[in-house]
Amino acid sequence: MTDIHALTKEVGFRESFLLPVEPYTDWTRHRNDGVFHPNTYPLVSDPKEAYPWANAVLICVMPYVPYTDETLVASYYPASNSSYHAMKRLLSLLKASGIRADRAETPYREQLASYGIGSRMDNQLLYLKPYGTYHVLQGAMLALPEPVDYTPRRTPNEVCDHCGLCREVCFGAIKGDFEFDWTRCIHTYMEGDPIPADAMAWMPSLLGCMRCQSVCPKNPQNAIPIPQTIRAALDPVAVLKGNRRQAGDLIGKNLAGPNRLLRQSIVLAANRNRTDALPYLKALRETDGERFRAELDYAFSLLQKE
Ligand code: SF4
Ligand code: SF4
Repeated sequence: MTDIHALTKEVGFRESFLLPVEPYTDWTRHRNDGVFHPNTYPLVSDPKEAYPWANAVLICVMPYVPYTDETLVASYYPASNSSYHAMKRLLSLLKASGIRADRAETPYREQLASYGIGSRMDNQLLYLKPYGTYHVLQGAMLALPEPVDYTPRRTPNEVCDHCGLCREVCFGAIKGDFEFDWTRCIHTYMEGDPIPADAMAWMPSLLGCMRCQSVCPKNPQNAIPIPQTIRAALDPVAVLKGNRRQAGDLIGKNLAGPNRLLRQSIVLAANRNRTDALPYLKALRETDGERFRAELDYAFSLLQKE
């Protein structure tokens, strides 16, 4: 029989878990309480409805190490892109082995927490030993030809001590005691619509922020310097100059699209007082002034002070 876990390692995941196909009871309750972003609403509460052919959920873990300086972009994003491509390769290998497999649209964190494999934290992330919250999860639904040994349920271990540090650095989403207001998480404003003024003024880096995990004392404390390729490709002025292909290779075409990366680069250039961005901002106002009006007005108000 195909060794699923060996295949996941072959494509670059550090570890993987096989779980049975069960309803996400707690997650559905939280969603119904309005904790999650509306893009979770289409997910059905019982995966058997969406994947009647599947008999296992595979969740794969790709850990990453944060950058010493995440004020340009968090190391999560290149890792997330790598994990996406690793899952693509894995699905091809599974199919080549005769196993039906589809990328899963399921709440992976909730599934691992409900098995005691990881622990929910106040910042809504999942603590997974030994990576802390520094990991990306990818999942797939599988139709395995034979019954499998599922990852055994573990005794849940509560890690978050509600110290409040993540709440202190947050834009307003983290409320403590596992309560969360998605409308105040900065990621909500990084999805392609005009960015509200208060979010622009607060925006610390491209694509969102990871402050809530950087400050968490439960996380590993090691970090690496930001690679020069990332620094060069995601420099906000380089993005404004039109250099987005390399950014797409590093963080994925979806995130590097103009509605996201260009919009945010306008704001980050302004927040960093990058007056060298002004010629590109002026050119952008000529070609796409209406689409980026809110961000351009904001940038000119900061960079063109008399
Ligand atoms: S910073 Fe404190 S409250 Fe926030 S997730 Fe970490 S342990 Fe929990
Ligand atoms: S990502 Fe930023 S805004 Fe969102 S919960 Fe974490 S600290 Fe708050």
